[in-house]
Amino acid sequence: MRQRPGIALVLCAPSGAGKTTLSRRLLDDFPAFAFSVSCTTRDPRPGEVDGRDYAFLSKESFITLREAGHFAEWAEVHGNFYGTPLAATLETLASGRDLLFDIDVQGAKQLKETLPQAYFVFILPPSKAVLERRLRGRGSESEESVAKRMANAGREIAQAVWFDALVINDSLDEAYADLVAAYRAATLSPGRRPDIVTEFITEWE
Ligand code: 5GP
Repeated sequence: MRQRPGIALVLCAPSGAGKTTLSRRLLDDFPAFAFSVSCTTRDPRPGEVDGRDYAFLSKESFITLREAGHFAEWAEVHGNFYGTPLAATLETLASGRDLLFDIDVQGAKQLKETLPQAYFVFILPPSKAVLERRLRGRGSESEESVAKRMANAGREIAQAVWFDALVINDSLDEAYADLVAAYRAATLSPGRRPDIVTEFITEWE
């Protein structure tokens, strides 16, 4: 069988759209997927493990790495820095392993330049009203935080037009089926399968 390069699948969504649930399910169902472990300057939350969930860094270390060109993309989210290490990403993909990215929209925009073969999926809530209801339903968000997340969501959703696939998360099972279909589509796209293209072109030359 051909050895294909790993697929870089990038998931973006406004807060409350269900990105974490969908990405966990994909990682559980497809053991060939690795999770892209980002660097962050925020403190670990209970249960988070350094090196598995994030590489937790001081602000100084993050800035030193950033200046040295360590990141494929980076962004400041809610006052903390987040970044995707470039070399580790390329190594994993070259080894044939698929890689799932959970990053914000500003970072995804940069990744489109630095990792053009990545496949970008935007997860949308079914409506503004439903997103607001879900955020309130968490019970953990203050009124101020809900308003801030809703304003951010509007800015993020405006970027959804340039993504490769849109997944509307109304029913979780249907959204998950669409996400798996987007992943399959990525594995069938010529730009992401240089192995197939090279083989056939060489044969017909
Ligand atoms: P949290 O702190 O809740 O884990 O993540 C906050 C936000 O940062 C989420 O939207 C998440 O997708 C985003 N994020 C996590 N890692 C990265 C990264 O490496 N780069 C960028 N640009 N965003 C990230």
